[in-house]
Amino acid sequence: MSETFFNPKSDAHSPIVIIGAGPSGLATAVTLTKHLLSCKVFDKALTKSDATKATGLHPETTQFLIECGGADKILKNGHLLLGNKMYADQQLVTEEIFDNGTDDLLASNISLEQSITEQILEAHLNNLGVGVERGVELQNVTSDTTGATLLLKNAQQQWQHRAGLVVGADGINSTTRTSLNIECPGSTSEALSFAIDCEVYGRELSHDFCHRFFRVGETITLVPMRGDRNFKLTGKLPGDITRETPQDELIAAIQQLADYRGGIEIIPRTGRQIAVYRISKQIAETFIRPSAVLVGDAAHVFLPIGGNGLNTAIGDGITLGKLLASFPAEQALHEYNAQRMEYAHQVKADVMERKEKWHYRSLRQRLDAKLGVTSIAERQYKL
Ligand SMILES: Cc1cc2nc3c(=O)[nH]c(=O)nc-3n(C[C@H](O)[C@H](O)[C@H](O)COP(=O)(O)OP(=O)(O)OC[C@H]3O[C@@H](n4cnc5c(N)ncnc54)[C@H](O)[C@@H]3O)c2cc1C
Repeated sequence: MSETFFNPKSDAHSPIVIIGAGPSGLATAVTLTKHLLSCKVFDKALTKSDATKATGLHPETTQFLIECGGADKILKNGHLLLGNKMYADQQLVTEEIFDNGTDDLLASNISLEQSITEQILEAHLNNLGVGVERGVELQNVTSDTTGATLLLKNAQQQWQHRAGLVVGADGINSTTRTSLNIECPGSTSEALSFAIDCEVYGRELSHDFCHRFFRVGETITLVPMRGDRNFKLTGKLPGDITRETPQDELIAAIQQLADYRGGIEIIPRTGRQIAVYRISKQIAETFIRPSAVLVGDAAHVFLPIGGNGLNTAIGDGITLGKLLASFPAEQALHEYNAQRMEYAHQVKADVMERKEKWHYRSLRQRLDAKLGVTSIAERQYKL
């Protein structure tokens, strides 16, 4: 092991620099700070985002938020998730019950807006005496066993910053990852997807379940949110919709999809931004370089099945923070890489298995069996 390698416990003048104040960066910063390791957090965004993003929290993520003093916010804004209901051609085919074991909001799978999760983490970090320095963008980073040299810029200037260790928590298009020439093989869909916060009408749907509507082609998914008829609706957009499509046309296209696939009417919730994005699946070839490490979406992006993005991002941050508190940095990074690479590949495999299990054809076959249908003509009649 290199003797010159940064030692987070003794080298107070070369703190750990975290690029990005999303869930992975904040979870890393909180864990490091709780273990009395000094860090700085930079984010290029001037303000926190309240865009519609991840909603599903696994119990271990909720537990971490509770440890960060988030219980009240969870009780006020969270919503219990009991499982998934799957539909083919608008007919309920089957359901999957989550292994909650309790209906306690603080110990189950729940939905909570990502902006609230980030608020809990950032407030806790502030209480621990660390603030996020906003409006600071990483332009480039190089690293070797003695540390990392960051090129940073804000609205006024550009400067170099020397750190013992850089944590790339800068999301799917990570500058840290690209600067360090880390390949990130995978794929990104051509089609655009959407996420919209809405009220749902037109049919009675259990408000404690996620509803996944399959029909030839693509799926739409409803995740219940706090508030009587509130759901987050996600799905793929028709090919003629672009990022430039005016908002009213975008909403009309989503409403048409919701009606055709789910037989539901939706009313967008006021003041909520509609997210339009491309779905990717990719895992970096390595999560570490000397004096540099990737966490969250910078390291891996999964298909949006089972809500793994945010939960894994937070899990990365907690694991990294604890390892750095327990071992010399070089050993901690290698241990982190081994543990989280294996975990990310396991998540990817699980997601692909679920994708295979819940595809339209197999649900359609189950529905036909349920209806006693043996031909397409008979199917039309029975539906
Ligand atoms: C519309 C949408 C819906 C989603 N739904 C789900 C879901 O239901 N379930 C789920 O688990 N996941 C979901 N995800 C994914 C989830 O949001 C991400 O997995 C999660 O945010 C990853 O956290 P992160 O901290 O790694 O990255 P991010 O949240 O992307 O945060 C990265 C941060 O880094 C900052 N940054 C980027 N580049 C730089 C730079 N060069 N210099 C300084 N700062 C920089 C950004 O401003 C940002 O604050 C969704 C994502 C989207 C877009």
